[in-house]
Amino acid sequence: MFGNKALPSVIYKYGARRPVTNADEVDRQVRDAHRYRNKLVEIERDRRSCVNAKLMQLAPRLLSLETEIERLDNLIAEKRSEIKRANATRRRRDVTPEQRAELRQWQADRKALRTELKERKADAFADPRIRTALAKVDAEALAASKAARAASGVYWGTYCQVEQSLSGMRSGAPPRFLRFDGTGKLAVQLQGGLSVAKAFAGEDRRLIIEPVPPKAYLPGEPKALQRTRVWLRIGSDGREPIWTIVPITLHRPLPDDASIKWVYLTRRRVATKDRWSVCFVLARESGWQKPGLARNGSVGVNLGWRVMDDGVERGLRVARWVGDDGTEGELRLPMPDVERWKKTEDLQAIRDQRFNAAVSLLADWLADPGCLLPDWLVERTATLRQWRSAARLAAIAIQWRGERFEGDDTAFATLEAWRKKDKHLYEWQANQLRKAIAWREDLYRNLAATLSRRYHTVCLANTDWRDLARRPTAEQAETDAGARRYQRVASPGALGRLLRERFAETVTVDSRHITQRCHACGEVNQFDAAAHVRATCRHCGAEWDQDINAARNILRAASGPVACETP
Ligand SMILES: [Zn+2]
Repeated sequence: MFGNKALPSVIYKYGARRPVTNADEVDRQVRDAHRYRNKLVEIERDRRSCVNAKLMQLAPRLLSLETEIERLDNLIAEKRSEIKRANATRRRRDVTPEQRAELRQWQADRKALRTELKERKADAFADPRIRTALAKVDAEALAASKAARAASGVYWGTYCQVEQSLSGMRSGAPPRFLRFDGTGKLAVQLQGGLSVAKAFAGEDRRLIIEPVPPKAYLPGEPKALQRTRVWLRIGSDGREPIWTIVPITLHRPLPDDASIKWVYLTRRRVATKDRWSVCFVLARESGWQKPGLARNGSVGVNLGWRVMDDGVERGLRVARWVGDDGTEGELRLPMPDVERWKKTEDLQAIRDQRFNAAVSLLADWLADPGCLLPDWLVERTATLRQWRSAARLAAIAIQWRGERFEGDDTAFATLEAWRKKDKHLYEWQANQLRKAIAWREDLYRNLAATLSRRYHTVCLANTDWRDLARRPTAEQAETDAGARRYQRVASPGALGRLLRERFAETVTVDSRHITQRCHACGEVNQFDAAAHVRATCRHCGAEWDQDINAARNILRAASGPVACETP
């Protein structure tokens, strides 16, 4: 775009504090940027229903085809999970001939409908009446988006960022509205890039970083020297910039030869507190290769989660790897550390209990208060017994504090005591979780660094971890909450991402049969992967650890003809 070739970019993130100038304006724009995002979602959803309405009117068969295909999709998915559930309880893997015939019939019907849909769609889009109608819908949506941008009250870097984040919304599932929880960001775009030196020089009208003394990064110097301020342009007053000045700690220097493409000022709500950060998106000609990376060799890494109790050290195995030099190893999280996650769940359980008790006490009192209740309280608590949200109940306590009334002493005191304690528990819980995740990231980064110094290429299976987390299989649904916690603790997606970031080269292989195929003879075995870590191949009799078998298969598949990606 614009004749610039895209250079590889990285993000440097720094902790910040609340802006010292124009903080209210920053708050307003963060909120309005969120509103603008939801407005664009609304426009897109309207556009889709207009398109549907037009098609319904001009080519009604298209919609009935789509509805019929969706009905068959659901039938097939239901039947499949029904078979899975039945097999899981009987510990078998079979399908009756009737079930198979039924599935086949539906699949064949669906295929025919899809072919027809494809043909009819091509016809419809060639039909000038439909083309004109759809072009009109698109033009209206575009005009509405432009008006929404003009009315958004958000400065241009930020609205560009909002629009970018929604750039794929016209295809796939309809975009969703998001609730505003206080988290959001402002963006400053530096078109063409701004060199780090120029940002420090203080002459640019979009971004200024106040310099830190060169000795700030010498060992033994106080860390306070790394504290400085960045100026971000968040608006214009005539031709003059409107700045917000944000205190930050430049805990690592910005590379001199980099150019800054974007700056984000982010506010995150953590429990009831705001955490601020500033991110710089940097690009440079020479790229971002880490020093000390190996020049050759490959390692296959099998990601997953498995509780290991083999007498070595009880723990959660999250990765098993094997290199093409024959070395193997694993990463195991010790159980006492895994329990950190349990702690956050325990805190949640305590909060849930206290919340339910507080709701029930308050609801009982509201039913028979012995005094006159103000209208706002009656209205806002009408559905109290169905509430699930602590924030909603806390909001009542906060409003009540400013609007006390005759005879409310005991009830108010009880609710306020609940709120204070819950706030404390919430912050405790959020901090526990944050620390646990930081601990895990540290271990994962270490593994990635160690392996990348030894091997040039990392080989991974193309498992979609988000998909697994979203749709637990029938078998998984039956396991206890513990197993789901282990998946959350292990977070294999996070480890995969760190490996991809760190290695010079990543090769992704098809995840099918990675576990079941015997690395020794190549035959596919049928067994319950969850039950035992060791398995014996039915074809050649070799006995192996399933995870190391998978790692070997990944490594082998990677040396064949497969897709290759470089970051
Ligand atoms: Zn075998």
